Amino acid sequence: MTWRPVDCHAHSTHSDGALSVAEVVARADELRTRPSITDHISRDAPTTVDSPDAVARYLDDLERFDVLRGGEFCWHDALWYELPPETVRRFTHRVGSLHSIRLANDTLFRVFHRDLPDGLTAAAYMEAHVSSLEQLAVEMPVDVFAHPTLVSPSLRERDPHELWSEAHEERIVRALHTAGIAFEISNRYRPHERLVRRAAELGVRLSLGSDGHSRQQVADVAWPLALARSLGVRDEELYDPTRHGSRTGAFDE
Ligand SMILES: [Zn+2]
Ligand SMILES: [Zn+2]
Repeated sequence: MTWRPVDCHAHSTHSDGALSVAEVVARADELRTRPSITDHISRDAPTTVDSPDAVARYLDDLERFDVLRGGEFCWHDALWYELPPETVRRFTHRVGSLHSIRLANDTLFRVFHRDLPDGLTAAAYMEAHVSSLEQLAVEMPVDVFAHPTLVSPSLRERDPHELWSEAHEERIVRALHTAGIAFEISNRYRPHERLVRRAAELGVRLSLGSDGHSRQQVADVAWPLALARSLGVRDEELYDPTRHGSRTGAFDE
């Protein structure tokens, strides 16, 4: 069988996706992509998967399909560390997300809010984003860091080469490298090439993610794959839990 890219990050109706699991699987087959279901698992995200029991039921459902069993966990929510090891092992891979970051004054800021708190500069925001990621990398036993460049909408309009200092980029990729967490090339929140190149050059594994919620979006990893290839990353090096293993223990002997 010819190689197919893995979409390590896609949503279904278990959380805020529009498609059933069966529909995601069928769409991935049309696009010659290997599918994952990576729904939100959190008490602070739009999802049905919001308790340890609900996680077990979610995995029961995914096990009925030929699909990789992922989950997208909010760093700022406690559910990820409440799961028993026997539940964790049923995931083929886990994705960690900064849907909220911790500011210097120790409050959490939800990154989907457009307006920054009074007095918070873009530079201070980015410092909080990077330091939150450094904490995530130490604390969370995930395989992939989702959408590394997801920031407040007001900052997405800026030139990323100015928003991101090279020192911040270096800290992000070093934290991921040290922790053994892959850098997601998100098709939804597309990273600038300079950051992805820096990750690849340091030897951080890259992961492809549609972060798809609709039929148009799920399993579409053409842009992330083209970017990885343009940086000289071989297809077989792109994160594939079945090839590279998972910190969930799913593939351990
Ligand atoms: Zn997310
Ligand atoms: Zn997502």
